[in-house]
Amino acid sequence: MTARILVVDDIPANVKLLEARLIAEYFEVMTAADGYQALAICERNQVDLVLLDIMMPGIDGFEVCERLKASPRTSHIPVVMVTALDQPADRVRGLKAGADDFLTKPVNDLQLISRVKSLLRLKTLSDELRIRAETAHTMGIDELLRAGEGATDDTGQVLLVDGRANSQERIIRALKPIADVSAISDPQAAIFEASENPFELVIVNANFEDYDPLRLCSQLRSLDRTRFLPILIITEQGDDDMVIRALELGVNDYIVRPVDPNELVARSLTQMRRKRYNDRLRASVKHTIELAVTDPLTGLNNRRYLDNHLSTLFNRSMARGRPLSVLITDIDRFKQVNDTYGHDAGDDVLKEFASRIRSTVRGADLACRYGGEEFVVIMPDTSPEVAAAVAERLRAAVETAPFKLKSSGQELSVTASFGISSRIASVITPGQLMKQADVALYEAKNGGRNRVVAVA
Ligand code: GH3
Ligand code: MG
Ligand code: MG
Repeated sequence: MTARILVVDDIPANVKLLEARLIAEYFEVMTAADGYQALAICERNQVDLVLLDIMMPGIDGFEVCERLKASPRTSHIPVVMVTALDQPADRVRGLKAGADDFLTKPVNDLQLISRVKSLLRLKTLSDELRIRAETAHTMGIDELLRAGEGATDDTGQVLLVDGRANSQERIIRALKPIADVSAISDPQAAIFEASENPFELVIVNANFEDYDPLRLCSQLRSLDRTRFLPILIITEQGDDDMVIRALELGVNDYIVRPVDPNELVARSLTQMRRKRYNDRLRASVKHTIELAVTDPLTGLNNRRYLDNHLSTLFNRSMARGRPLSVLITDIDRFKQVNDTYGHDAGDDVLKEFASRIRSTVRGADLACRYGGEEFVVIMPDTSPEVAAAVAERLRAAVETAPFKLKSSGQELSVTASFGISSRIASVITPGQLMKQADVALYEAKNGGRNRVVAVA
């Protein structure tokens, strides 16, 4: 994993120490000796993570963190605050300032590297989310992405797997302000619980008499329904081997006994926030696919795409003073096809109709299924005369060759009606352009169907 890490500390020896450790792990390191310098570097460079000291002259670490998180240009950069061991209150303050994690001085190597790596993995995901959000924005579905946002700090749902009643009690009490905790002492039953319920975090307290807690962690990682569930393990002081193996198995974070309630709250919150974030990422991917630009039946673009793209084409035609024409077509008496031959036969006709549109229009034209048996073709750089000719060609292509039903092999005659409109001086919005084509289509229907009508 290569990444650029900014180390911020006013004491040069501290900077050197962290820098050396990070470089040994092949990270690229930048350094800053005060808060202003740190902010300037983050503004100007692509920084992937900040390790931030708290006590500094000028502006302190809390304020640097707040400012980083307040600016849209830097708010996505993970910040790890480096706090003094004897100041537990700093951790809570750091989290309030928006810090993503914290480390205590003197910084332990294992903690430094495991936390940095875990945050960088998260950043890779969140960068992807941002890119998708930008794409989604251009497609007009960003409201969907925002839908999940407000819920970020709801009460969490935590499963605690802990072999001892008294430590269960302590942990439940510590997490009370942020989460509902279900405690269980049987690790095998925990697997079942975790896959059946919408937990957002599993805390595994490694204190069982005769059970290897890593077995549980590995099972949780391998099951489909719990694969994305964060795991926080609580280990014995000095049991670095277990921590290393746990992190290798995909355990997300760890706490060493004796458990500091503030640290437990902070780390649990971080994990749950990350999970919600990742869930949103996955949801957005799903939405992007579901709401994508294609109509599944015909393979043409769908209305969502058309509505968005029409305004682009319209503005471009205005700006360049070029014509733009719109064609709306609706299959005649289509309901009868369904009624006589069944819905599947109707679908066959729609597919064949779409394919005739596709082979009749130019590559630069945008053909869409607008709804049911209604299709729209947007034709850039196309005068009213040419649009009328295209519509007539399409009308003939539909009428002349019968439609063959895949289901039964039967052939049937199909016709369609067409309305066309073109952008002229008095038409000022894409909506009006569509409206006029629709009025023309209505006239074509009233005039006896199977014909093309251009707006007067
Ligand atoms: P008109 O000539 O006035 O357009 O008559 P019509 O029967 O084509 O129009 P109407 O709007 O009354 O009926 C349209 C029918 O299209 C009704 C609806 O069930 C059918 N339809 C809409 N979408 C689909 C689809 O995806 N598949 C199938 N098979 N039928 C569809
Ligand atoms: Mg119809
Ligand atoms: Mg209709």
